[in-house]
Amino acid sequence: MTMSAREKKTRALRILDALVERFPDARCELDHEGPWQLLVAVVLSAQATDVSVNKVTPRLFGAFPTVQHFAAANAVDVEAFIQSIGLFRNKAKNVVGAARKIVGEHGGLVPAEREALEALPGVGAKSAAVIVANCFGVPAIAVDTHVGRVSRRLGLTRHTDPDKVEAELTSLLPRERLLQAHHTLIFQGRRICESRKPRCSACPVAGECNKVDVDVSV
Ligand code: SF4
Repeated sequence: MTMSAREKKTRALRILDALVERFPDARCELDHEGPWQLLVAVVLSAQATDVSVNKVTPRLFGAFPTVQHFAAANAVDVEAFIQSIGLFRNKAKNVVGAARKIVGEHGGLVPAEREALEALPGVGAKSAAVIVANCFGVPAIAVDTHVGRVSRRLGLTRHTDPDKVEAELTSLLPRERLLQAHHTLIFQGRRICESRKPRCSACPVAGECNKVDVDVSV
């Protein structure tokens, strides 16, 4: 039996409420103060864990306290602080390039529009959504690997393309709860609905899930 649009929305809200109850403290796990530091942390986090990023950012931000410091730096100076992170050379170049563009074109302030953010080196659609949602109160749900996987397993979407997943989740959930959905789906994906071995017996939304105890491959 196919669900009506209203039923789908009600179900999505039920799932979100259960995840919020389980993870009331779900939040951005990249340590940062302000939009610029979050931008740097997000750029560094591509194909790296938040934990590994959090290990290097205190010293990095100690050495380069502002966006102007990064803009004035050479990429090799930044590299020295992030060598434990994958793709560090490219990331150092992107962070310095982004800082120069922000100082040169945006008066030293991180832009609050997704389009302007996506024009910065190293900042893709997902990163831009993370920044505007966390720092500027713009309703957006950034779709990373966890958000995509958990949403598919729960039947909230069938899409694999992150833009399409974002559009579907945005149509299902109230705009003011998109950031909360982003954080709780990530917590669920990291702690319960893990990629290889979902812990279905400990899952707060197992009652909503067709993949419970199935050998999932999505
Ligand atoms: S029941 Fe299992 S597969 Fe479904 S959301 Fe929970 S942990 Fe993931």
